[in-house]
Amino acid sequence: MSEGTAGSVLVLNSGSSSIKFQLIHPETGESSASGLIERIGEPDGRIVYRHCGGVEERKVAIPDHRVGLTMAADIVAEVGRPLSEVGILAVGHRLVHGGDVFYEPTVIDDEVVQSISNLSSLAPLHNPANVIGIEVARAALPDIPHVGVFDTAFFHTLPAEAATYAIDREVAKEHGIRRYGFHGTSHQFVSARAAEFLGKDLSELNQIVLHLGNGASASAIRGGRAIDTSMGLTPLEGLVMGTRCGDIDPGVVLHLHRSAGMGIGQIDDLLNRHSGLKGLSGVNDFRALLTLVGEGDERAALAYDVYIHRLRKYIGAYLVELGGVDVITFTAGVGENNADVRRDSLAGLGRLGIVVDDERNCADSHAPRRISADNSGVQVLVVPTDEELAIARAAAELVGG
Ligand code: AMP
Repeated sequence: MSEGTAGSVLVLNSGSSSIKFQLIHPETGESSASGLIERIGEPDGRIVYRHCGGVEERKVAIPDHRVGLTMAADIVAEVGRPLSEVGILAVGHRLVHGGDVFYEPTVIDDEVVQSISNLSSLAPLHNPANVIGIEVARAALPDIPHVGVFDTAFFHTLPAEAATYAIDREVAKEHGIRRYGFHGTSHQFVSARAAEFLGKDLSELNQIVLHLGNGASASAIRGGRAIDTSMGLTPLEGLVMGTRCGDIDPGVVLHLHRSAGMGIGQIDDLLNRHSGLKGLSGVNDFRALLTLVGEGDERAALAYDVYIHRLRKYIGAYLVELGGVDVITFTAGVGENNADVRRDSLAGLGRLGIVVDDERNCADSHAPRRISADNSGVQVLVVPTDEELAIARAAAELVGG
């Protein structure tokens, strides 16, 4: 990492058991280096660092986030120059839960760190890991501004009727229970890109964005403003995901506790890590699921059908909420790469003005593209998401880069 890094933003995504980092130029979108620290807390940890001169990989036990980040910074310095000397404009931190406190990119100071930490009860797996990432990065790069970009921020504008759960008002107020939404950086980035691709003003468009990755969420966006989204208080609500159940009768939780004798930790584990595609078919990776479907595996076929059924329900709901839609956009790992999901989730909707063109849908491309037929009133697009670039741009804009 030596040439062409000046003016770049170091984007840090510190998750519960992994950390991703990337050095991105906010204007060109070019990534000059990136890294992954994974399986933190397990004996078989791994650090991968990709830079213009090649790839470094270390397999080493990584006891915690602090050690992992320190090791990664050492590798960066060994193969090039220390991070403090490469002309970084800002560090952009991907932060999961901003609660009711943060809904704009925010320059991080001690008080902000404390507030993010205070929100940990709303995101116990994510916010503590985010805070450690911030602390280590601020200690390593104290003279560079650090900016937090929140996954919940884009959904701060949800109207009250979409954000409110129908439970006792006082209980909800006391415990901050409402629908916050997640993947906001992606939904915002993709909806802006979709408008750009169509050559339309964002303010003119009613959009549905389907972010279908390992985690999955849908959003309804009117004129650039989110009016509904499928994830809620936590990223567990909504669509069927790799390992998360999505929508479920809350009575299931009560039943598992009362009748099956499961503790809250077990239920948490079941719904977050052993449900969704994995719970139904045994695999959480969509490609593995499709392989099983191709082999005639009935559990996998049902998992696929449940996934598509839930997706269609949300598309239908958002069509009505928006009172008609101009654009439906697929993004993230499954949405960008899987033609079957795109075809099946919109099949038979010609009378609603939604017609997917088979040939366009199956084209092998990684560029933003239209997959609807010429006679489709609704534009159906595939737009690759780039949360890291969106974070780099937000951070650069805030610090005046
Ligand atoms: P993400 O969380 O956005 O990285 O998406 C991860 C998901 O995308 C995993 O379930 C992958 O199996 C899935 N995925 C990636 N590439 C493909 C592909 N070519 N076909 C189907 N699913 C894919």
